[in-house]
Amino acid sequence: MELWYTEKQTENVGITCKVLNTLHVEKTEFQGLAVIETLQFGRMLVLDGMVQTTIKDEFVYHEMITHVPLNSHPNPRNVLVIGGGDGGAIREIVKHPLVERATLVEIDRRVVEVSREYLPEISCGLDNPKVTVIYDDGIKHVKDNPDTYDVIMVDSTEPVGPAVELFSGSFYSSIFKALKEDGLFVAQTESPFFNADLITNCHKEISRAFPITKLYLASVPTYPSGLWSFTMGSKKYDPESPASAAPGYPTRYYTPGVHKGAFMLPKFVEELVK
Ligand code: SAM
Repeated sequence: MELWYTEKQTENVGITCKVLNTLHVEKTEFQGLAVIETLQFGRMLVLDGMVQTTIKDEFVYHEMITHVPLNSHPNPRNVLVIGGGDGGAIREIVKHPLVERATLVEIDRRVVEVSREYLPEISCGLDNPKVTVIYDDGIKHVKDNPDTYDVIMVDSTEPVGPAVELFSGSFYSSIFKALKEDGLFVAQTESPFFNADLITNCHKEISRAFPITKLYLASVPTYPSGLWSFTMGSKKYDPESPASAAPGYPTRYYTPGVHKGAFMLPKFVEELVK
């Protein structure tokens, strides 16, 4: 019998994948959590019915949420990830030679535990000696740690449940305070095709807190519409002028050229953030 998994990405659109196996299903304290094995994308982590990451295309998202901000800062020594319990962002961060400390603050311990079990290719960086994993609400963590981080990455779920406030103006103000005087941050800000209002609103709220706000794009096949946005807020450094010319560590998507090109926006996206 053939089994197919569909994520309903909007009321009217879905992505459907042929399933080889259901490896894990549970209801955690915070969300529905599943790992399924698909033929096209390999193992796939799903939270509340939404695809978070897959073995085949995870490198795009994880490289672009980390190496763009890391290479926009000349000295990213102390780095924070909020969310990101699959460990993919951490795996990329610890490649950077200047990073001394990477802290992951994930609200749901089970995401980390299940990713360690079923997605070792993604979660492997969590055991690096530079890494500290904290199980807490990221909103509380940034409020409790002023003037601490060089770079912060908000690797969150969609704005539902515990992630709603991660897309708010008050959270961006707390991030500003948690950063050092030349710090910068990035948040995943969904699809320009399906989440135009969210992008406009995040850009507006981040601009209220940060002197420099820039949006960049990457292509992630399993995310709604396939075109994904990230919004950066920076106190001092312009992310369009990378601090380092070449990363000097292995990547599959990120290059200095991709870094620059990612900020070249199609007209309709430019208009969302005018
Ligand atoms: N790359 C993914 C995407 O865009 O679909 C996100 C991956 S990661 C699994 C998202 C994580 O954010 C989830 O594990 C979720 O538990 C966590 N999260 C949601 N709200 C949070 C909060 N307030 N504090 C810390 N972590 C949070």
